Amino acid sequence: MKGCISVVNSGSSSIKFSLFGNVEKEALSLIFGGQVEGIGVAPRFKARNDQGDILEEKAWVHGPDVNHESLMGYIIGWIRENRQRLGLELKGVGHRVVHGGDAYSCPVRVDDTVLRTLEKFIPLAPLHQPHNLGPIRSVMKLGADIPQVVCFDTAFHRTNPPLAQLFALPRQLMDEGIRRYGFHGLSYEYISRRLQVLDPVTATGRVVVAHLGSGASMCALLNGQSIASTMGFSAMDGLPMGTRPGNLDPGVVLYLMQEKGMALDDLVDLFYKHSGLLGVSGISNDMRVLQESDDPHAEEAIGVFVYRIQRELGSLAAVLGSLDALVFTAGVGENSPAIRARVCEGAQWLGLRLNPEANARGQLKISTPDSRVSIWVIPTDEELMIATHTRDILLGARNR
Ligand code: ADP
Repeated sequence: MKGCISVVNSGSSSIKFSLFGNVEKEALSLIFGGQVEGIGVAPRFKARNDQGDILEEKAWVHGPDVNHESLMGYIIGWIRENRQRLGLELKGVGHRVVHGGDAYSCPVRVDDTVLRTLEKFIPLAPLHQPHNLGPIRSVMKLGADIPQVVCFDTAFHRTNPPLAQLFALPRQLMDEGIRRYGFHGLSYEYISRRLQVLDPVTATGRVVVAHLGSGASMCALLNGQSIASTMGFSAMDGLPMGTRPGNLDPGVVLYLMQEKGMALDDLVDLFYKHSGLLGVSGISNDMRVLQESDDPHAEEAIGVFVYRIQRELGSLAAVLGSLDALVFTAGVGENSPAIRARVCEGAQWLGLRLNPEANARGQLKISTPDSRVSIWVIPTDEELMIATHTRDILLGARNR
C-alpha cells in the first residue's frame, strides 16, 4: 500500500487540511486539500482534489456541539474515508504550530513532553497556540497510534543573531521569554529552498523575502538562513496587515489604556481585528477591494502598506549589508503587479529595476537583465513544507 502524509493547519476560525502522496519519492504531490471555515459563526466544509475540482461541501448550523473538536473529528473521518478509497496508508500527520518558543529550532515528533512544552508557550500566542494544539489531541484520540510532527512558524528564525532577538527591555523580561521570535518561518523556509533550486548562486547571497498576505512580514536571508525579520514577539509587529497594525509605538498602548480606559479585551480586539488595511481604509481588509475602490482612504491604506514595506526593505538591506534579490510571495505578493511595482519604484536606490511586462504577467523573474538586484515572484507553499518535514522526520531518507 502506498503511503501518504496529512497536514493540518488549525486557526481560530478555520481548520485547513491536505493530503500528500508520493512520500517514497523526493517530491511530494498534493492529492486533496480543503478547510472548514467560519468556525464559531457558520462552519462550512469544502474539499478539492489536486486539480481544484470540488469533492465535497457541507455546512453546519453553529451550536454548542459544533466546535473545533467536533469539526476536527469530521475532518479526520473524511480524510480516512477518502484515503482508504484511494488505497493509501497514512504514515503521519504534520501540524502547523505558531510558537516553538526558544525550545525548538526545527520540527519535532510529538510526544507527551513536546505537548507539555508547547502548552507552556500558550501565553506567548494565546489566540493561536491553543487552536494549533487541539487537533493534535484529536488525532491522538481518534487516530490510534498515528505518528505526529509539529512544525513551527518561529523555528526558521532561531538562526537570527542574539542582538536581532533582543528588545531593549530589562534583562529579566528577556529571560522570561519576552524577545523577538519572528513568524511565517515555514513560508520563508520554503522560499529559501525554492530559490536554491531556481538560482543557486543568488540563494547563497543576500535576499529579502516579502510575505504579503492577510498576515504580512519580511525576512532577511543570508546564505539561505534567516538573520532578521519584521515580526517580533507576536505576529502583530512589523508591516501593517489586513487587520493588524504592525509596528506601533508602545506609547499608543499606554495612551489608549490611560486616556480612553481601554481594557485588555478591547486592545486585543483593536489590534487583531480592526487595525491595518481595514482600520485605515474603514472599508476592507482585502487588498483587491481596496484597489478597486476610489475612496481616498482606500488609497491611503494601500499607501501606508507600500511605504512601510519600503522602509523595512531598507532596514533589512542594511542588516544584510547589501541586497542581491527581492522575492515577493503570498496572496498580495503573488497576485498584485500594482503593489509589486509601487514597492520596486521606491526601492530603485537599492539597485532594483523592474521589468513591467514580466511583472504584469506575474513571471517568476520580474527584474530587467541589467538590474543589480534580481526580483522574483515565488508562490509559497507552507503545507508542502510541513508535509516534507513530516515525511523526512517519520520516514527518513532510508525508510522511504
Ligand atoms: P493568508 O494565508 O495570510 O490568509 P493569503 O496569503 O492567502 O493570506 O493572502 C490573502 C490576501 O491576498 C487577501 O486578503 C487579498 O487581499 C490578497 N490578494 C489575493 N489575490 C489578490 C490580487 N489578485 N490582487 C491583490 N491582492 C490579492
